[in-house]
Amino acid sequence: MDWHILGSFGGSSPTCRMTSFLINGELALDAGSITQALQLDAQRRIRQIVLTHSHLDHTASIPFLVENTFGEQREALEILLPPQVLRTVKLHLFNNDTWPDFTRIPNDLLPALRLVQVEPRAAFSANTLRLTPIPVRHTVPTCGYLVEDESGSVLFTSDTGPTDEVWEVANRTANLRALIAEVSFPSRMQAVADVSLHLTPRTLAAELAKLRRDVAVHLYHFKPAYVAELRDEVAATRFPHPVAELRQGETYRF
Ligand SMILES: [Zn+2]
Ligand SMILES: [Zn+2]
Repeated sequence: MDWHILGSFGGSSPTCRMTSFLINGELALDAGSITQALQLDAQRRIRQIVLTHSHLDHTASIPFLVENTFGEQREALEILLPPQVLRTVKLHLFNNDTWPDFTRIPNDLLPALRLVQVEPRAAFSANTLRLTPIPVRHTVPTCGYLVEDESGSVLFTSDTGPTDEVWEVANRTANLRALIAEVSFPSRMQAVADVSLHLTPRTLAAELAKLRRDVAVHLYHFKPAYVAELRDEVAATRFPHPVAELRQGETYRF
């Protein structure tokens, strides 16, 4: 499967786009920067968006994507999301205050946008893929995803502090090709990372000790203010597994 890294950061600056991956040209996994990264014709090809959680760095471009593609598609754009994330998106994003409620526009029967609930730990099909939401530990309800096709699997942790289940899934998935894990703050900001349930290189090293297999580990979610410092610290840290920064703008074939 092809993963186009539209945005790989945990915040926004002219060089850092917010978290969003485009899989096989049609399915977006998180939506922080779809409309900044893709031309309009590529935006129109997106049929489904899968969300890990409600934070803006993972959802901010959805309102503009819906507007850009409004009226041009026969089928509604589908957003697949866990229960509490669905509630938040309904209440705080498409609520007729922050943005029009496109789940009822142009009308209830043929809306531009459909919110589809997915259940933690229950696999579902989307595009040609099988996805399984895996609960992780963040300040709001959040799921990582195991994304599988017939040739292999990729595990995306999403935003999380120290956790176990996602590493257990990594250890028991036979054909795991790659793992995308977060690191947000340098270790000197450990207290901030702990309270916001994110990782530093120090806690990432402890998390990677739970991974008992050889798999490529890619890092995402550097906060823009600390990118240079994090790159230096990651390069100087001895991790239990080799790691590489996930490169924004590139397409990975997993
Ligand atoms: Zn984030
Ligand atoms: Zn978050």
